[in-house]
Amino acid sequence: MAAQSYPVELTAPDIEPYRKGNTGIEFVTSFDSGKPGPHVMINAITHGNEICGAIALDTLFKLGLRPSRGILTFGFINHMAYARFDAANPDASRFVDEDFNRVWVENRLDSDEDTVELRRARELRPLFDTVDLMLDIHSLGTYSKPLMICHGLKKERDFAAKVNFPAHIMCGSGHIVGKRIIEYTPFNDAANDKVALLVECGQHWAASSGRVALDTALHFLRVADVVDPAFIDAHLSAEGKNPPKAEMWEVTGGITAKTDDFRFAEQYIGMEVIAKAGTPIAQDGGETIVTPHDDCLLMMPSYKQGAGTRKLRLCKRIG
Ligand SMILES: [Zn+2]
Repeated sequence: MAAQSYPVELTAPDIEPYRKGNTGIEFVTSFDSGKPGPHVMINAITHGNEICGAIALDTLFKLGLRPSRGILTFGFINHMAYARFDAANPDASRFVDEDFNRVWVENRLDSDEDTVELRRARELRPLFDTVDLMLDIHSLGTYSKPLMICHGLKKERDFAAKVNFPAHIMCGSGHIVGKRIIEYTPFNDAANDKVALLVECGQHWAASSGRVALDTALHFLRVADVVDPAFIDAHLSAEGKNPPKAEMWEVTGGITAKTDDFRFAEQYIGMEVIAKAGTPIAQDGGETIVTPHDDCLLMMPSYKQGAGTRKLRLCKRIG
């Protein structure tokens, strides 16, 4: 099955005006209300090719949003990769040396190992350590419905349920190698109230993803309670207003290709629900892969080829 190519409908905004910022960290700007409240941070371009988050932050900057309490911080995370974004070859700018969303393990952050992304992570880490509530904005390789990902602690599930946008909340580790920002130790600690969530806004360059990114940021800020609710109401899109109650799903497992000859049974885009356990969903070399349980949701299919590639996550409805 050949990889599909996708039109680039979104325009990557010029983020150069945000380079200087005011935190001493390039591309990070904080607004302090001077009133007690949480430190809330919204991240864009953790992956440099996922431009919808940059559009949401650029919009919020241009609207002049300021917090009514607490501190509000906007960060363009992997600006080094984003600087290489080219609409003619939009996949190429995901990262420079390695996936920024896998480096959040202490023994790598504390080591003297050197990659462009580790250097940036070390720059951001003292700031991240002060953040109470973080939204990390991403997008997807296919025309999947958007989804919120929470690592799975009760505090995260509860917060995600209150954000209630987009309409699917996916809980669980996804069994990846390394750690995502949302799993970085200070967040992944049941003993504090810090919460980090990751939103996948839809296909990387689809027009709808820009709208979903902004709507999700606004719903997140509503629950964080750091912005005038009138601002949020005024800037939610028609689709973002009064969303239905979001579905909650548990990530029950993941499928990684064992061979270079991995083929899905159908051209899945993600979020398909397969009714019957035992239904073939892929062929990996000579092995047939089947759904492990009834009503199995197929999350984030990847059409990247090669043994060792994460191909799919499997999920079960929990609420
Ligand atoms: Zn991403």
